[in-house]
Amino acid sequence: MFREESTEVLVAGAGPVGMITAILLAESGIRVKVVDKESGTATHSYSCAPEADSQMRRHVQELLKERAPWFEGTIGEIVWSAEVQFEPGVSRQFGQGRCWLAGDAAHQTGPVGMQSMNLGLREAAELVANMKKILHEQGSPNLLNAYASNRREEWLHLLGTKGELKPSVQTNPWIRERGARILPCLPTSGEHLRQLFDQIGLDLR
Ligand SMILES: Cc1cc2nc3c(=O)[nH]c(=O)nc-3n(C[C@H](O)[C@H](O)[C@H](O)COP(=O)(O)OP(=O)(O)OC[C@H]3O[C@@H](n4cnc5c(N)ncnc54)[C@H](O)[C@@H]3O)c2cc1C
Repeated sequence: MFREESTEVLVAGAGPVGMITAILLAESGIRVKVVDKESGTATHSYSCAPEADSQMRRHVQELLKERAPWFEGTIGEIVWSAEVQFEPGVSRQFGQGRCWLAGDAAHQTGPVGMQSMNLGLREAAELVANMKKILHEQGSPNLLNAYASNRREEWLHLLGTKGELKPSVQTNPWIRERGARILPCLPTSGEHLRQLFDQIGLDLR
């Protein structure tokens, strides 16, 4: 008779953040199981019907002309498209007890700066490091409370609901005017974000 080893961590959601969490957990010697509400790989396609394709091309071409007049390329075949609304926001809590969030389950922002994905992967790594300490190295469960408050704090800054962007006297007026809009477009976070802001003459406090 084989005894089934008990699962130590259940990952709900097999998106990129869930999968990285599961891989890092397994690499850390933690018994992990992944579940997803979908039963297989994607079953729907975003590919366009021919008439939608030409409408879409016209629309994107007009947008480019209006917002990026310096862009000289043209749009070829559109392979897939989707209409998605990105509602910036962060969960009130990143978890409690035995249930913890990472990735888009906890936060959302526009896709330009890729912050949702990149920070989601960082959250996965931090979550796993803490779980390893708690499950295998007698670490305090309070480590996860610290994870939750630190990550939420970071998102409040990234979403512009906490802290202030201070321009200096030398800050370019164009940047001074658009500081808050530039923030979610930068593909970085933490110390690197501060360094980038230094370069463009903004101080993030
Ligand atoms: C159109 C579009 C374009 C984007 N472009 C970029 C880009 O260019 N660069 C970039 O970095 N990011 C981009 N993003 C954002 C990026 O896709 C997300 O940040 C990333 O997928 C988040 O990964 P995740 O694992 O947290 O969540 P998701 O990818 O949303 O995965 C969540 C998983 O959980 C499952 N699930 C949901 N509810 C349950 C439940 N109750 N029980 C079990 N399973 C459940 C879902 O089926 C899904 O498989 C884009 C997003 C969209 C929508």
